[in-house]
Amino acid sequence: MITVTLQRDKCIGCNYCREHAPQRFTMSKKDGKAVLLNSTDKRGFFVARVHEDELASLEKASGACPVKIIRISGM
Ligand code: SF4
Repeated sequence: MITVTLQRDKCIGCNYCREHAPQRFTMSKKDGKAVLLNSTDKRGFFVARVHEDELASLEKASGACPVKIIRISGM
């Protein structure tokens, strides 16, 4: 398993993460920011444990994020 963290308050709503990893990100209709699916809110840092199968798409999402708020760890 790997860990994905989204520092959601800094999201600018560009949608790149969803384009690369639609299985893990969606966009909120309420505030226009990214939502990390099946995550837990830890004081503004949304954390999800996911299968290694998602690593390639999550790395693309992380690399594409213009404000660098998607982190992947535990590989
Ligand atoms: S790529 Fe980054 S800034 Fe853009 S919507 Fe996703 S989390 Fe937000």
